[in-house]
Amino acid sequence: MQIIRTIKDMRAFHKILRTGNKSTGFVPTMGALHEGHLSLVRRSKEENGITVVSIFVNPTQFGPGEDFNRYPRDTVGDLEKLSALDVDAVFMPEDGEMYPETPPAVSIDVGGIGRILCGVSRPGHFNGVATVVAKLFNIVMPDRAYFGQKDLQQTVVIKKLVKELNFDVDIIICPVVREKDGLAMSSRNSYLNPEERKAATVLFRTLKLGEKLILNKGMDNTMDVKRKMEEMIRSEPLADPDYIEIVDPRNLQAMQDIRLPAALCIAARIGNTRLIDNIIIDKK
Ligand code: AMP
Repeated sequence: MQIIRTIKDMRAFHKILRTGNKSTGFVPTMGALHEGHLSLVRRSKEENGITVVSIFVNPTQFGPGEDFNRYPRDTVGDLEKLSALDVDAVFMPEDGEMYPETPPAVSIDVGGIGRILCGVSRPGHFNGVATVVAKLFNIVMPDRAYFGQKDLQQTVVIKKLVKELNFDVDIIICPVVREKDGLAMSSRNSYLNPEERKAATVLFRTLKLGEKLILNKGMDNTMDVKRKMEEMIRSEPLADPDYIEIVDPRNLQAMQDIRLPAALCIAARIGNTRLIDNIIIDKK
């Protein structure tokens, strides 16, 4: 496994690897890797001759006062996990390598899709995500790139980016990997103390309640389902909901009457930690 820190070396190494007809799969991450990330890496390994993973805590997707400085970093552990999966290359640039100018002279504005759901409390976040992903695609030049449904809005933004800017990359979305009690795996779960960790299961329990109301009880009015879901999340004293929304998973448009497929999306603070989760309900 090659560890690469510069754009020039990444391009040169890829040229050497890419002999024959091998396709390249790419998994962008911010590190502190867990089974959710590793599921993406395994999928890429299955589907491609070459797998490249990036580890880069992208400063432009963090707002002022967010957790950029204390975001969990575990380079040694990450490299061990990736080496065990026999990844071909790990791209780990410094901030200055990715962004010679701060703020960057050129960045991508994803428009309205970046201002709904998580974009309400994280203005500019999805512009930062789109900018770094576009740069990484231009550096790594993958055939396929792997993203988790855990960050549903991010997947919709990336698909839009690829379509609008004509990147020749297939975007593959992988299912949410969860802890045994349903909590979606996230690097930020490490911020939770034991009491908060227990309380954090309320996100998934709330999503499952919504699913049950729609599928088993036949409820089809968004406001009614949202009200019940909000009651449940508010019953957990440590949880402070940011939003509960029911949207079309393809474009994140809100729906008044529930039609399938529908995505139930939730964001909440558990103590000081902001967590997100979603489930997509589709026709059986
Ligand atoms: P991050 O390091 O948080 O930027 O995540 C890197 C990639 O891993 C993104 O595409 C995430 O959606 C994906 N990911 C994070 N957590 C999970 C999870 N629990 N299950 C599946 N994919 C995940």
